[in-house]
Amino acid sequence: MKKIGFIGLGLIGGSIARSIRRVHPDYTIYAYNRSKDSLAAALKDGIIDVVCEENDPRLGDCDYLFLCTPVEYNLQFLEAMKPSLSKGCILTDVGSVKGDIHRRVEELGLGDIFIGGHPMAGSEKTGFENSTDRLLENAYYIITPGSGIGVDILTDFTELITSLGAIPLILTCEEHDYITAGVSHLPHIIASALVNLVRNLDTENGHMRMIAAGGFRDITRIASSSPVMWQQICQENRENISSVLDEYIRMLIQIRYEIDQDDGAFIYQMFESSRDYRDSIDVLTRGAIGRVYAIYVDLADEPGGIAAITALLATDQINIRNMGIIHNREFEQGVLKIEFYDADTCRRGLNLLQKRNYVVHEA
Ligand code: NAD
Repeated sequence: MKKIGFIGLGLIGGSIARSIRRVHPDYTIYAYNRSKDSLAAALKDGIIDVVCEENDPRLGDCDYLFLCTPVEYNLQFLEAMKPSLSKGCILTDVGSVKGDIHRRVEELGLGDIFIGGHPMAGSEKTGFENSTDRLLENAYYIITPGSGIGVDILTDFTELITSLGAIPLILTCEEHDYITAGVSHLPHIIASALVNLVRNLDTENGHMRMIAAGGFRDITRIASSSPVMWQQICQENRENISSVLDEYIRMLIQIRYEIDQDDGAFIYQMFESSRDYRDSIDVLTRGAIGRVYAIYVDLADEPGGIAAITALLATDQINIRNMGIIHNREFEQGVLKIEFYDADTCRRGLNLLQKRNYVVHEA
C-alpha cells in the first residue's frame, strides 16, 4: 500500500489523484492546495484521505510526491520540501516545461530522487472541479528522469503511470521542451493571436464575432486556457518557442508572397500536404492538446427541442460537459454541439440519440 502526496490539486493534480483512487483504492492520498475549497471537495468525494498544511512533513514521507501547481511554484516547492523528504520519497512534477525544473533539481542535488513528468492531457478548463478520473486515459505521459535515477525506480514509476491508463514516453528535458514548443506551446500562441486578430479586425457591427462559430471556434478553443499558466510556460520555454515562432513567421511570409503572386499550385499543395499529414496523425491517443469528445445533432427550431435531448441523456446517466448552438452549418453538421467528458460517454450519447431517430454527426 503506497502513500501518494500532492502539492496542487487542480485540474491535473485532481485528475491524477482521482485516477489513483479509482485504480488503487488502497493507496493513501495526502494533499496540500492553496485553495482550501478544492481540498474540502476532494476529501468529501473520498479522493484524498488527508488534508495537509503547506510544507507538511507528511508530504515528504510519501512514496511519490506530485508537484502539480503552476510551473513557477513547483520550483519553489522543490526547494521548500527538500529538508522534509524521507529516504525513498520520489519527487515528480507535471509541469508543461521541463528545462528549468531539471536545472534546479541538479543544483539542489535531487537528481537521484526526481522524475519529471508531463501528462499530455488537459483542457482549457482549470481547477479541481473540472478534474476527472479518465483524463490520463490513452494520453502520452512524458517522463524525464533526473540524472541519477536508477532503473528500478524509473520502472516502478512507469508502471504507476501505465496503471492509470496513460502511455509513458521517456525523453530528456531538452527533447521535451523542443517538442512541446512545436505541438503545444506554438498552437496556443497562434490560437490566442488569431482570436485577438479577429477582435481587432472586426467590423463596427461585430459581424466577425457573430459568425465566428464552427471551425473558428474549434481551432481557437485553446485560446480560453489559463493566462497565468501560459504566461509562465512562454517565459520558461522562451528559446524553443522563439525558434519555432521564427519558422512559423517565415512560413507565413512565404504563404503571403505566394498568395500575392496568385500561385495556385503552391496554395493547392499547401492545403494538400497539410491535409495528408493531419490525416496521418494518430487519433487513438490523446495528443499535446486536450481532445474534445463531441457530437453535432440536427435539431428542428422548436420549443423544448434541447430540453428533450438533455432529458434523454440524463435518463441514461450521461453527463454533458458543454453544450452550444452553432448557427452556421459547416460541412452540413447539425446545429447543437454536445461535448462529453470521455470517448465512452460520447459513443453512448451518439448511440442513444441515433436510436431515437435524431440525426447525429461525430465531431
Ligand atoms: P489548475 O489551475 O487547475 O491547478 C493548479 C492548482 O494549484 C490549483 O488548485 C491552485 O489552487 C494550486 N496552486 C496554485 N498556486 C499554488 C501555491 N502557491 N501553493 C499551493 N497551491 C497552489 O492548473 P492545472 O491545469 O492543473 O496545471 C497544474 C500544472 O499542470 C502546471 O504546472 C501545468 O503546467 C501542468 N499541466 C497543465 C495541463 C493543462 O492542460 N491544464 C496539461 C499538462 C500539464
